[in-house]
Amino acid sequence: MKPLVILTHPMPSGWVAGLEKEVRLVTGPANTANVSPDLQPHFAEAEGLLTWLIDRVDEALLAQMPRLKVVSNLAVGVDNIDLEACTRRGIAVGHTPGVLTEAVADLTMGLLLAVARGIPAAAADARAGRWGLWRPDGWLGREMHGATIGICGLGQIGQAVARRAAAFGLRVLYTSRRPKPKAEAAGGARRVPWATLLRESDFLSLHCPLTAETRGLVDARALRQMKPTAYLINMARGPVVDTAALTQALQQGWIAGAALDVTDPEPLPPQHPLYRLPNCLITPHIGSATETTRRRMADLAVANLLAGLRGEPLPHCANPAVYEQAP
Ligand code: NAP
Repeated sequence: MKPLVILTHPMPSGWVAGLEKEVRLVTGPANTANVSPDLQPHFAEAEGLLTWLIDRVDEALLAQMPRLKVVSNLAVGVDNIDLEACTRRGIAVGHTPGVLTEAVADLTMGLLLAVARGIPAAAADARAGRWGLWRPDGWLGREMHGATIGICGLGQIGQAVARRAAAFGLRVLYTSRRPKPKAEAAGGARRVPWATLLRESDFLSLHCPLTAETRGLVDARALRQMKPTAYLINMARGPVVDTAALTQALQQGWIAGAALDVTDPEPLPPQHPLYRLPNCLITPHIGSATETTRRRMADLAVANLLAGLRGEPLPHCANPAVYEQAP
């Protein structure tokens, strides 16, 4: 009998074609966050679980899935999954690093340019008939060349942003828990303490994972240390930034503006005050949203899942400690 795999939500047609031949698939509903209770009758038999970043995988869920061998997350971030609980139970967790790096770095530069040059407001003015005669002081933005970008988390995406930023003539500073000598040599990025990054950045760009250490990292205290002319770009995960503190910072001019591809909560409710602030640009978590990248992520998620079902090492495993455990 083929193993049973749960897809928490329907995938676009053809994106998981490689799975259909190998396993019995059960698919959850489209429009609910989390692993739907409708799938509960299949939990006891499931050996594989393909999750989206909107699905919480915790001890309570795992306890209902005694045969589960592999969780394959369609994302590089695994903050939605209790990795320790999976490791304790011998469940490998797959994720999709690398294939989304360039797309996310591209969007980071897009958001950076958009807020630096006020592109959304200028475009809205043109569309609304507010484009009067050209004048030298109309729609003045911030110069990128010669400005400083501070990258929090110089991993795959952070490094891809650093390369792009250097090409734009930005000075690149970064923080991370460990130095990145190769990336420094390749892109001219310089490692500085967090307080220096806050103090010196004209653009502070977040690319660290969401962990216990980074949750709330950009809080009121951090925002108060930034330049009043600085912009915050959040491409990491919403809870890395304290939303209430950021709202206050933008309302009171502690910083010049923000561009957020991720928010806390997600989706950000339509009535949230951040949407009403002209100095805040919000996109709905579209960092990796190109067809090419999303299909590569799906391919990798399928490869991780199939390897886990066969008991082989996953191409990209987020909890390698699972292989160190005695069988
Ligand atoms: P990665 O290669 O693992 O890079 C993450 C980097 O963050 C690592 O180099 C790590 O270096 C650093 N880091 C970890 N803890 C840190 C801390 N406390 N302070 C500063 N740096 C820290 O992962 P990636 O592929 O670049 O992805 C990074 C994150 O981007 C993901 O976890 C995900 O949350 C987010 N993401 C968002 C989107 C989107 O659509 N907006 C898309 C993809 C990914 P050290 O271990 O040396 O500190």
